This record gives sequence, structure tokens and C-alpha cells, in this order.
Amino acid sequence: MERIENTQIKRFLTEYVSTKLENCRPFVQVFGKGFAKKRLELNLGKVYTNVFDSIMVGTYNLFGDHSITLYTSNHNEQPLTIEELSKDSVKMSTMFHEAIHAIFRRTDKECKKYRIQNGTGILETTKGGKEFGRGLNEGLTNWICEKAGLDVISYIKITELVRELELAIGTKNVMKLGKGNISKNIAKILNMSELQCYAFLSKIDSIYILQDKYYNEENFVYLLSKYKNRDNLSEIEKRNFEDEFSDMEEHYLYQEMLQDENYLFLKAQSDNELDAKISYFKERVKIHKKREEEAIAYVESIIFDKYFKTEFEKYQKSNKFSQNKFVKFQKLARLITVRENIRSSEETSSERFKRNFTRIYEKSDKSDSTGNFRISYACNYLPVQDLYQSDNRTQRNKVKEDIEIREEL
Ligand SMILES: [Zn+2]
Repeated sequence: MERIENTQIKRFLTEYVSTKLENCRPFVQVFGKGFAKKRLELNLGKVYTNVFDSIMVGTYNLFGDHSITLYTSNHNEQPLTIEELSKDSVKMSTMFHEAIHAIFRRTDKECKKYRIQNGTGILETTKGGKEFGRGLNEGLTNWICEKAGLDVISYIKITELVRELELAIGTKNVMKLGKGNISKNIAKILNMSELQCYAFLSKIDSIYILQDKYYNEENFVYLLSKYKNRDNLSEIEKRNFEDEFSDMEEHYLYQEMLQDENYLFLKAQSDNELDAKISYFKERVKIHKKREEEAIAYVESIIFDKYFKTEFEKYQKSNKFSQNKFVKFQKLARLITVRENIRSSEETSSERFKRNFTRIYEKSDKSDSTGNFRISYACNYLPVQDLYQSDNRTQRNKVKEDIEIREEL
């Protein structure tokens, strides 16, 4: 489907986003009044809508024409209207998210000042073409959306890492991360040396990259499975499917597969090439999800050791919590992910914290009859929200379920 330049949506976006951010206290405290509007006028190119894509929801073209594109998973030829957009919470939060990238984009002058090639918020591309901070930048962008009152629909775990940082260094300091400048400002706010800061950001970048990989791989499983029934599609569905299918074939992960020994082995074992490809990508999804979990545990351990450990051990020894501290650690325990079936030698400090804290909580819950600590304790972190809603998405989720069930076997 051809993209449509949508001037109506651009006007709406500028007005809506600047008003929301103008009413967001922590944002105005750090960036001042009128900041969002001024930056959007400077950094936002055209706004495009009605581009079909079954996994992408929005993009800000940082490196090119600075346009925002809102994608659609429906086969709709009519230009997206403000009414439709306002009713669609996924599209609204996507629009907001992309607008924040635009607001924080480094202008040419700023790039010169910070000696970078390109950047927005925490994300920086060096003159040598290396990139740092993409992961945390996505989390921070979502966190700002949330502070302005919008839902968060993407990068759930990285956003939780930002919430953990908020408990560690405070709301205002997290907002200040939006000012960017990794080597000076970001390192200082995070209380890290320049080198530690780059290592920390790179680890979060790896979470981003792994997620990007398995999103694509899950989509490939879906497309390859759908390929078998392609004759049942309507004309327009068929056209979009063929586009998606050929994009897949050009994708670097697909190209890598063709050379991969594991795939060649599967292909030799199977009499159906399509099935071999599906099995291969299902396996890749499993591997990348496991690596993502490990990277998350590692980053959470750094956060826990750096900002919470001393304080927690002190309270653990005395066995006394003030209510404020208790609530803070309770929030932290909710955010930290605990991997199942973990061997104790592999347990990270943040996981140990969660285990111990749950015990302390249970104790205080039993001993306290005044109701002070009777805040219901949910062990699980917030469930990942359904990203997408259309039929395609439902089928896609079924593929995901299939992969997860196989993991248990
Ligand atoms: Zn983004």
C-alpha cells in the first residue's frame, strides 16, 4: 500500500504531544516550558500514514528526512483520520513515542558540539559508525510517554529497567537522561565512569538487538507457515503477503540461515525445505529469548549492586524497614525478573534479593496486624501486553504460544 502524506495528522500530533508534555510536570521541570513544541517545529518532517506492515507500528526517520510513519496492519486505503487515531490506543502511544524521538533529535549544530555523527536522547552514533544507547533510549522514551499519561506498548522489559533506575536515582534524574551526552551527562547521572557507562548501555543495547531478532524470527515462522495456505488469501492480502515474503527473503537473518550449518543439517534430515526453515527459526527464537533473559538478569544485577545492595543489606541485618523503604523495595521486587529453574550458583544478586525480600515480606505480613505493610504482593512482573490486535496478530500469537509450549518439552 502506498504511503500517504498526512498533514492533518501532523497538525494533530504537534498540538497533542506538546500539550501533553506541557502538562507533564517532571518534563517541564527539566526541559522548561515550550520545549516540546519548539523541538517538533525544528525536528519533525512529514508525517506518513497507511503504510502496511504486519509487525512495525511506527518509525521516526532519524537519519534521513525526519519523517514519522504510522503503519497499519489492516488493508485500509482511506487516509487515517484524527477520529480513528484517537480511538486507537496502540497508534496513539506509537505516535507519542516517535514524537519523543523527534523532540530529542540532535541537530547538526548539536552533533558538532558533542562530536557525534547522529543521535537522539541517549542514542549516539559515533563518527566511526558505532552506535550506543539505542536500548536504553527506547526504554526512556516509553517511560516519558508513561509520565505524560500514555500506555506503553513496546520494549516492555527495557522500560521496566528504566523504572528500576527511577527507584534508584529518582524521577528528575531519569528525566535528565533525555538530555543525552553519554560520556559526560549520562555517566554522571548514573554515577558511573565513562567506560562503565558505555559497557552498561551496550548490555542494554544487546537486549534490544535480541528482541529485534526474535520478533523477526517469530514473524518468519508465521510467514513460512502461512505460505502453505497462500492460495486462500484475497487479492490485496496476497499482494501484501508477497511483499512481506520477499522482504523476509532479503533480510540478513534469513540470509544467515541459508549458510548456517544448523539449517543445512535440518534440511538434510527433512524432505520438506519449508518445514526445515520453520524448525530452524523456532529454534533461533528459543536461543535468542534465553540470551535476552540472561542479559536482563545481568543488567538488573548491575542496577541492584550499584544502587540498592548496601541499603538492603543494612535493613536486612536490622530486620527493620521504614514504610517508605519497604514500599521502594517492594516496587523493585515487582520489577525484577526471576528466571525459573535457575541453579543457585548462577543466581544474580538481584535474583537473590527478590528471593530474600519475598521471605521478609511474608514475615512482616504475618507479624504486622496494624495493616501497615498489608500491601498485596504480586511476585510476577507486569505481564507483557498484547502488542497487536488484528486477526493477523492473533494468529501470530498462536505461533508464539506454539514456540513456548515446545520450550517446555
Ligand atoms: Zn523508538
